[in-house]
Amino acid sequence: MEKLEKQFQKHVKWLIHIRWGWIVFVSLAIITFHQIFSIDLPILQLIILLFVLGIYNLTFVLLMRKLTFKKFEKFASLLIRSQLFIDFLLLALFLHYTGGIENPIAIYFIFHVIMSSFLLNKNYAYQHTIFGVLLFISIALLEYFSVIPHYPVFDYTQNPLFTNTFYVICVLLAFSSALFFATFMGTTISGEIKRKDKILEKANKVLQEQDKIKSEYVLMISHDLHEPIATVQNCIQIVLDGYCGNCDPGVTQTLKRATKWTDKMIHLIRDLASLSNLNVMVSINLEPLCINKTITNILKDFDQQTSQKSINLKYKKSSRNTWIAADKEIFSHILTNLISNAIKYTPENGTIGIDLSGHKTKVLLEIWDTGIGIPAKYQEKVFQDFFRTPDAIKYEKDGTGLGLSIVKLGLSLHNAKIKIKSPHDKLPKLHTGTSFILEFPAIKEIE
Ligand code: ADP
Repeated sequence: MEKLEKQFQKHVKWLIHIRWGWIVFVSLAIITFHQIFSIDLPILQLIILLFVLGIYNLTFVLLMRKLTFKKFEKFASLLIRSQLFIDFLLLALFLHYTGGIENPIAIYFIFHVIMSSFLLNKNYAYQHTIFGVLLFISIALLEYFSVIPHYPVFDYTQNPLFTNTFYVICVLLAFSSALFFATFMGTTISGEIKRKDKILEKANKVLQEQDKIKSEYVLMISHDLHEPIATVQNCIQIVLDGYCGNCDPGVTQTLKRATKWTDKMIHLIRDLASLSNLNVMVSINLEPLCINKTITNILKDFDQQTSQKSINLKYKKSSRNTWIAADKEIFSHILTNLISNAIKYTPENGTIGIDLSGHKTKVLLEIWDTGIGIPAKYQEKVFQDFFRTPDAIKYEKDGTGLGLSIVKLGLSLHNAKIKIKSPHDKLPKLHTGTSFILEFPAIKEIE
């Protein structure tokens, strides 16, 4: 989601929540003052105002659900500004019906301008404050000159404050200066925050660029290393296969050890290359992919490994739509890594499950096993480059600690999420094992 869209949605949601809060607060205040303190309030006008505020807020809730941001992108700033102006107008009307200048609720105007200082740019924030000050002055003067009625809330009948010239002047001066001062503070602080945000954003961009350069470098090195090591491995294999004459058992043994190490090296180089490759990718080629079918094909490649360890592999297909937008190669790589791990960290005669379920907006894919599990304290760390849990190191010497980093990066390119559950509850009474739950955004069924 674009930054502007996110920001807009956050701000509108914020205003919507504040308005609901305000409706509850005013309703409770009316009940308290009217019922408990028996204060005579213009209930009808106040209820109409609350009703208008409720309908107006509800309209925004529905608009936010129905409209896509693109439709009103051009008016996004105007929409926020007009909301703030209307809110100010409604607040002024509440003030008017609850004692006007005599009501300390006027303090809430200050919160309103602080809020607008954070949501609007400096010019608009000051415009908004001027509007608020003008509203307040108008109410005070119109009531003072009896152009509009005054609704007394406090018992100042002997000596009403709203007609006391000195009091009115003092309140207007104090109120206007406080509002301008709050705007000044708000815009200064928010300006400083925005400035620091920009610096951080810039620094982040530089870091990302450096990270990309590093990945390109690693990618280049891994390609350069892969070829000679693969050649060394081939040469050793030729000797081991007897094409260069018979070797004595000591030499054979040593060459076998050398192959084991070159294997490890090749594995590490391949993982490093895959990780760097994903890191330098700006975008990927997303195409409609039916996971149901793709998994069936991938599982065929694991027949030998599962039968070697007598592992029971269960695949629970989904009867509903499992179409996602994916890069087939990266998706297969992700799944292959997770299934290889499940096989690697599950003892003989264990069980591995793949559960697929399609929903309206998402496709869930769970890969679970009855293996050694991942302790809670390591569940975040396993996605870091080169991290391996102590149990995993003891159980299986071979491993690069890069497989899950590749998985995480690959998933982020698909806007997909991953969660770990260990132990999981896939098999009753079994309290071990690991389950990786992947969530992809669903797309419409193609066939
Ligand atoms: P590795 O090459 O070590 O398997 P990965 O990045 O694939 O590297 O995994 C990182 C670590 O996460 C592993 O070393 C292991 O500690 C843990 N892990 C991953 N998958 C599993 C699993 N299915 N069961 C138990 N531990 C796992």
